[in-house]
Amino acid sequence: MKTKNIYELDPERLATTDEHGNRVYLYPEDVKGVWKDRRKVFYWFLIALYLILPWFNINGKPALLIDIFKREFTVLGFTLYGVEPILFFLLVASGLFFIAFMTSLFGRIWCGWACPQTVFIQSIFMKVESLIEGKARQRRELDKGPWNFNKVFRRSLKWIVFTIISLHIAHTLVGYFVGPRELLRITMQSPSENWGIFVATMIATTIFLLDFGWFREQFCIIACPYGRMQSVMMDENSLVVAYDPKRGEPRRGTEGVQKSDEGDCINCYNCVKVCPTGIDIRRGNQLECIACTQCIDACDDIMTKLKKPKGLIAYKSENELNGKERKVVTVRSAIYVAISIVFVSLFIFFINASTKLNLVFLRAQNPFQVIEAGQTVVNHFRLKITHQGSQEYKVTFKINDKELSDLVEVVTPINPTHLNTPEKKIVIFFKFDPKILSNGTRKTNVDVINLDTNEVLTTKEVVLVGPTN
Ligand code: SF4
Ligand code: SF4
Repeated sequence: MKTKNIYELDPERLATTDEHGNRVYLYPEDVKGVWKDRRKVFYWFLIALYLILPWFNINGKPALLIDIFKREFTVLGFTLYGVEPILFFLLVASGLFFIAFMTSLFGRIWCGWACPQTVFIQSIFMKVESLIEGKARQRRELDKGPWNFNKVFRRSLKWIVFTIISLHIAHTLVGYFVGPRELLRITMQSPSENWGIFVATMIATTIFLLDFGWFREQFCIIACPYGRMQSVMMDENSLVVAYDPKRGEPRRGTEGVQKSDEGDCINCYNCVKVCPTGIDIRRGNQLECIACTQCIDACDDIMTKLKKPKGLIAYKSENELNGKERKVVTVRSAIYVAISIVFVSLFIFFINASTKLNLVFLRAQNPFQVIEAGQTVVNHFRLKITHQGSQEYKVTFKINDKELSDLVEVVTPINPTHLNTPEKKIVIFFKFDPKILSNGTRKTNVDVINLDTNEVLTTKEVVLVGPTN
């Protein structure tokens, strides 16, 4: 009886699903080749960048820090203060259109070369797996075999190592939001002192662990929104990993075809065996293909052994496969890059045009002082003023409250205050009669006034405090 070739895929269903709709686990074989070497170098560059970036300082600031609570965004030593949602939108939208531009030129280059999913799985998780559980055939046998000591030991060891790696990836991610020093401080403390961050880190660890260790290609095939959308961004000029049927077909063993009429494909299935999403690229461009180039290396190796030209599977556009010329710049790619440039320009424009100041009042250790035989109370603050843009302001501070404007005196050591840097810290005092307080406190508003235009740049609430009687 002829044994069923497990690499001969059913055209009616996904390679990762059996006839009952259950998941079929994949055991992609390892491959060697120039594309693998190039990807390896690039992946490790990205991993090193990811791990090092939060620890790397430029101008005394982290290379990248996204402080959500303070709405501050630091990149390459430059900080944007009080970042508005519109600025984030413009930044993200320009990035998305840039990816769309790259996709229209080079297909799913993001998936195969830069997506964290591919980078971490291919470089780390699959490496650990093959070190502990062996090559593809051994992993398949271990999976099918009984739960004996060998299987329990190898499986446990694999998941322990996966967990340690996922913890490290998740902690680094948190470092991008809280900063490296704060991250170190938090990790030294008990979880009960930082419940929010601890829970967020554990959720991120669990997601990385399950996705990179178990869910894997299912995410690309079922869940990834970019995977669904990529066909809309591509056309017949986009470069994709493609099999050349004109050269390869009829493949070896095709019924009724003479040996002398066969094409270059020897039907060895090596391209299928190495595919991390389990597909057969000879069936044409498919949604599941993440353009990882593993099949290019696998087929080039066979062609070299057969002393035939490489490139039966290669980066090619549909036009090239049909013997036509590939247009590098198309209307589609020009539109994507134009929209991306518009969004970046708007982002720069909004930053420069932004006059909005952010004020943070930090109360001095002594909340108030009583002077002049109890007739006057002084509140002492440090004031942090931040603003985007390149404008400079001469400002003064005034109480914005009809009832209190004559009763509260605002004192700054230098008046007017010159705001000539994106961030300024000054000392500010409020002097007032304690009679204005009710139960020892009183809320009021402080205006920051541009002295050149008399315009109110911003208003901030401050709480005045004093004795309770
Ligand atoms: S690796 Fe190349 S020769 Fe082998 S089946 Fe795939 S396309 Fe054909
Ligand atoms: S078909 Fe080739 S390029 Fe596409 S996912 Fe499979 S191995 Fe990678």
